[in-house]
Amino acid sequence: MYLLIFGPPGAGKGTQSLLIAGRLGIKHLSTGEVLRKAVEDETELGKKAKEIIESGSLVSDEIMVGIIYDALKNGEMKNGFILDGFPRTLKQAAALDVLLSELGFPPVKVINIHVDEDELVKRMLGRGRKDDTEDTIKHRLKVYREQTMPVNSHYLKKSIVFNIEGNGTIEEINDRILKMLKSC
Ligand code: AMP
Repeated sequence: MYLLIFGPPGAGKGTQSLLIAGRLGIKHLSTGEVLRKAVEDETELGKKAKEIIESGSLVSDEIMVGIIYDALKNGEMKNGFILDGFPRTLKQAAALDVLLSELGFPPVKVINIHVDEDELVKRMLGRGRKDDTEDTIKHRLKVYREQTMPVNSHYLKKSIVFNIEGNGTIEEINDRILKMLKSC
């Protein structure tokens, strides 16, 4: 299966995509993780991305599309993938459409997780990540509403979108996702 997992920061995309990837035997790619690793390793990418991540803004489309292009081209995604945290802008979504079709991938399905904003803030404050301070969280939610929400409409027009209620335990949400995926 070729999946995108979509939803606001704190919705549980990382946790759920790891579970789904394990269950379906597909490759999990989190762009946030790629960036955090680059920051930790102090690579050129990491140096460029550090302040942006810590402020809760978005790394440039050019850099992000480059990361996805490399991953799609090197063959590790050809038997299935779940992309976690990408695309986050309409430009990234358009670039992904082109890349997938040029590289001969089948159409993607989108898992769209919905969680109430109060619950999102609570979850993020509990994670203890460096970009999970109260101010950064507010900023990331704003960035999500302004830049990432429109990506959902892009997929509603052209792909299968599964809307998942993301309140509940990790297992409950995972069951909902797997049931939805089986039904298609
Ligand atoms: P995440 O782990 O998905 O919450 O991502 C952490 C941070 O990495 C985000 O707040 C952004 O600063 C950056 N990031 C991750 N994915 C992307 C993307 N597709 N486009 C731009 N920035 C991203």
